[in-house]
Amino acid sequence: MNVYKKVIELIDGVEKEFVMIDIDEYNNYMLLTCCSYEKLQTKKDMIQKREERQQETENKRVEGILKKEQRDQEKEDKYKKAIEVQTMINRHQNEAKKKIKEDLKQDYKEVFDNNPNAKIQKCEFCTNYRIFPIHFLNDDGKKYTRQYNKDNKRKNASCCVDCFLDVEQKKEERKKECSVYCNICKSSYIAFGENAIVKHNNSTKHQKNMNISQFEKTKTQIKLELLSVKELHLICSKTLTEQKTYLICNYTKTKKEELVKKMYNSYEKLVFDLY
Ligand SMILES: [Zn+2]
Ligand SMILES: [Zn+2]
Repeated sequence: MNVYKKVIELIDGVEKEFVMIDIDEYNNYMLLTCCSYEKLQTKKDMIQKREERQQETENKRVEGILKKEQRDQEKEDKYKKAIEVQTMINRHQNEAKKKIKEDLKQDYKEVFDNNPNAKIQKCEFCTNYRIFPIHFLNDDGKKYTRQYNKDNKRKNASCCVDCFLDVEQKKEERKKECSVYCNICKSSYIAFGENAIVKHNNSTKHQKNMNISQFEKTKTQIKLELLSVKELHLICSKTLTEQKTYLICNYTKTKKEELVKKMYNSYEKLVFDLY
């Protein structure tokens, strides 16, 4: 039997087989295909399997939809919960703020009673609630201000007295930290920055004191042995160190010759005025 052409097409989910044969062969062909029990059985199995596959696909599709719905629900629940929590936090914060403000009004009742302009104001620096004017204006009615940086520019803004004093105290501390004692000038100065010491050493005041000190040094370049013991003692009595002890101890008990030697040794360290 000749099969000229064979086409399998899926129609309404069922595989249909189309064949082109000689018309005389029709009965033979039918005998070969549909009427064979085995063939029918395999066809049945195939259909069943296909249906199972289709069911499986359908199940997966439904499962996917359900899972997505569940995820969406969870997302929504999470979002709702977050909003709930945030609302609760906000309410707590608002209550806390209210309480702080009420306490302040109670604590500073006198200020509020005597000043119609009194109000609670937030300090932008420490973010604390304080009382205007007592915490924001000084005795001259001027605002306490503090510097801050914005866009690389130094700006001034109103702040509370504590923030103001805080800065002042830090400035004081820094002044103390950066205080340098100059031996030539016999005084302390504030050295902010690396070049401050060089700047001081080049200053007119320092140069002048340096000249005086140089002059004092040359003054001591006299021959000590030509001086009387009394004069030597006078010099020694003026040579106190920073610890307030004498540079040459027991100078009154030392023999002149030895004292002169000691004085020459301490020559560099001597700071005194002969006249
Ligand atoms: Zn403040
Ligand atoms: Zn100096």
